[in-house]
Amino acid sequence: MHRKKEAYFECSGCGREYEISGSIWRCRCGCHLNLVFDAEINRERLEGREKTLWRYFEALPLEETSSIISFSEGFTPLLKAELFNQNVLVKMEYLFPTGSFKDRGSTVMISKLKELGVGEIVEDSSGNAGASVSAYSARAKIKCHIFVPERAPETKLSQIEFYGAEIHRIKGSREEVAERARNFAESRYYASHSWNPFFLHGTKTFAYEISEQLNWRTPDAIILPVGNGTLLLGAYLGFRELRDMGLIEEIPRLIGVQSASCAPLFRAFRENSEKLPEIEVRETIADGISVSKPVRWKEILAAIRETDGELIAVEESEIIEALRELGRKGFYVEPTSAVSLAALRRIDESGEFLIPLTGSGLKLGERMRRFL
Ligand SMILES: [Zn+2]
Repeated sequence: MHRKKEAYFECSGCGREYEISGSIWRCRCGCHLNLVFDAEINRERLEGREKTLWRYFEALPLEETSSIISFSEGFTPLLKAELFNQNVLVKMEYLFPTGSFKDRGSTVMISKLKELGVGEIVEDSSGNAGASVSAYSARAKIKCHIFVPERAPETKLSQIEFYGAEIHRIKGSREEVAERARNFAESRYYASHSWNPFFLHGTKTFAYEISEQLNWRTPDAIILPVGNGTLLLGAYLGFRELRDMGLIEEIPRLIGVQSASCAPLFRAFRENSEKLPEIEVRETIADGISVSKPVRWKEILAAIRETDGELIAVEESEIIEALRELGRKGFYVEPTSAVSLAALRRIDESGEFLIPLTGSGLKLGERMRRFL
């Protein structure tokens, strides 16, 4: 299949436009880039296609199907479950090839980078995104460097190493790790899950799948863990595109959840602040969303406001209770995934809620025992 698609980068800060290429990952002004691109979905054409996220090829920013780097991922199960005595829709995002939803972003980003001829990439991650990008780089034969915080869980690091990526352990905060990665990427390509716009065009398939699985209807609200916001922003982008195509009527309310130990977005939302507040980061078991300076923070808050959503911060004890409840109902996930259920318990409204379970409990190995 071949289709020429009109697409370009647009700076999120100054609005400058750039042609798409494999040598640029941010604007000259320093801000991150967004991808402007007309997505298409033809419902009739979906019939008979393989149940992977690549069934939405016309809505993804690739020129040729031959560029696709895939493990036949996506179309994760969507089921009903009773959690804390409430009926909830659960999307099992931990059933991806590398054990987290990040594969949505990686399959699209790495496919596109391969198409653009990029041969070496740099990423920084506390675990899941690093593992995911490494696996897809291995399949694409792209040289991959992953910068990780020195204290990242060993089980996640060994997964990255198994995929053959080069690990760079960095002392200091999560932001210092990111800065070191960006410096290292000056002469390479920074394939960051938080900066790269192709990544979000992968995570948007989360919204497509939900809509299709519910027969082009949407739930009232989706409750998502938010650190860098890659899933929330992808969901927003996907639902907005579907609404603009006339395939769904309404975008669900997007409710973001942070750990109270690292909740800059929660504070910015509540205080309606113009700047991202400086916060003191405490240790949290929801390490996947422990991000004190999310690059796309303004977009995250705008998406939440535009959908009449909400931001909730949950305590460690609430996360552990939710994690146990999920386990008792047969869902073995990592603590970061449990924040959505912890937040749902706080919501005193009726309606149809959906929670994604974003990462597998198997990733933490024995460390899960301490939450029993
Ligand atoms: Zn700019």
